[in-house]
Amino acid sequence: MERTFVIVKPSAVNRQLIGEVISRFERKGLRLVAMKMTQLSDEILHEHYNHLVNKPFFPKLKAAMQATPVVICCWEGVDCVNVVRTMCGTTNSRMADAGTIRGDLSMSMQENIVHSSDSLENAAVELKRFFKADDYFNYTRTIDTAIYSSDEI
Ligand code: GDP
Repeated sequence: MERTFVIVKPSAVNRQLIGEVISRFERKGLRLVAMKMTQLSDEILHEHYNHLVNKPFFPKLKAAMQATPVVICCWEGVDCVNVVRTMCGTTNSRMADAGTIRGDLSMSMQENIVHSSDSLENAAVELKRFFKADDYFNYTRTIDTAIYSSDEI
């Protein structure tokens, strides 16, 4: 089973969409294994968006990511990294497909509701950055046998 990292961004917190975003992943059948509310520090944002720190829009992005606390989550499931990326939609919400979180809920490149890891390798790095070992929960859901066929897991 893969695990991926999600941030419910301040654009979602401000617009009272935390429940909507979490609910979409839940209804998909993904298992929530860690979640917390946190205020992102300068240090963690510089690490997390290291590939963007030299872009002219970085100061605006940083301010936007610190505008409210965020909700960080770890979701688990078969092919979870790609499933969650597909559910989030492309970075520019105006280009994102209808049916995706960004495509349905936002109009912006920056204020795009949600972050999700773009590869299994980055998911592992990001999860390690944001969660400690005892933040994770292992449990069985009564519906687990209805989510996958036994040959898929
Ligand atoms: P993601 O993986 O789809 O989130 O995309 P990136 O890793 O390329 O960018 C990270 C985040 O930076 C995006 O989700 C946006 O919030 C923001 N961002 C990306 N490109 C731009 C841009 O051109 N302008 C602004 N203001 N923000 C951007």
